[in-house]
Amino acid sequence: MRMYVRPKNFDEAIALMSQDTWRILAGGTDIYPSIGERHINASFIDLADICNLKGITEHDSFWKIGALTTWTELIKTKLPPGFNALKQAAIEIGSIQIQNRATIVGNICNASPAADGVPALMILNASVELASVNGIRDVALKDFIIGNRETVRKQDEIVSSIKVPKTDLESFSVFRKLGIRKYLVISMTMIALRMSIGRNGTIKRTALAVGACSAVAKRLFELEKLITGKTIREAIKFIDEVHLDILTPITDLRAPAAYRKTASKILIQRSIASFENIDEAE
Ligand SMILES: Cc1cc2nc3c(=O)[nH]c(=O)nc-3n(C[C@H](O)[C@H](O)[C@H](O)COP(=O)(O)OP(=O)(O)OC[C@H]3O[C@@H](n4cnc5c(N)ncnc54)[C@H](O)[C@@H]3O)c2cc1C
Repeated sequence: MRMYVRPKNFDEAIALMSQDTWRILAGGTDIYPSIGERHINASFIDLADICNLKGITEHDSFWKIGALTTWTELIKTKLPPGFNALKQAAIEIGSIQIQNRATIVGNICNASPAADGVPALMILNASVELASVNGIRDVALKDFIIGNRETVRKQDEIVSSIKVPKTDLESFSVFRKLGIRKYLVISMTMIALRMSIGRNGTIKRTALAVGACSAVAKRLFELEKLITGKTIREAIKFIDEVHLDILTPITDLRAPAAYRKTASKILIQRSIASFENIDEAE
């Protein structure tokens, strides 16, 4: 028998999760299109009424994005500049209607290689909080998604929030995505970059992630190290496609693999260049 339940609180939800096999429903903007015209053959647990999963809250050492926080809520919340990349990603997710409905947690749990939220959260060293009747565990986002539509979430767990550590959130971040048109488009590549520039004009710290060019978005740790200490101009000149060999883009109807790689390099260079206009030298 297929069922639809809408628990009133989180304890009820995790108790239900321990008793049966459920599909978790948040905004439904990934789930409903994936079902299409087919017969529904799963039982759904709809989180919509669980008030304490809503909103973004500040804590001593981290920011918490509740599981029901929508892209629109994120855009409207005043947050430190480190979140700018995530906000820029939010503004380009689907359309206003999708942003009003869809959740950030749904985006990462769906684990599409083209999920726009993932690189922007990776550069913030975000972690994912998973809850079940057995307790709570935190998993780094980079370890949470393990493949195309695959995560380490256990069948009885609900993602209750995303946590973003407060370290380095004062440095600015940018997000750039390339699709075949501006809106309502699946990315061919996307870049999230967080950098801080020293008083002498050199790059002090950097975090760089690329999405849609591998099964799971990737942090480019080696390239981050290589450009640290360079000026913005030097870094832009230095970057070569060879630094992106860690990526494994595919050829599909949206773009050939080689094009995705070249486009990623150019987007990284443009993202770095955009820091020339950001006045935050330390
Ligand atoms: C027209 C359109 C345009 C779109 N454009 C974009 C775009 O530009 N960029 C982009 O990245 N995405 C886009 N999407 C995809 C989608 O809107 C996002 O991925 C969205 O953030 C998903 O959130 P949701 O709340 O709707 O997830 P849902 O559809 O409710 O759930 C998605 C998945 O996550 C799981 N899940 C949800 N919440 C939890 C939880 N708390 N714990 C455990 N598992 C959970 C669900 O079981 C499901 O597997 C688009 C979708 C549509 C229909």
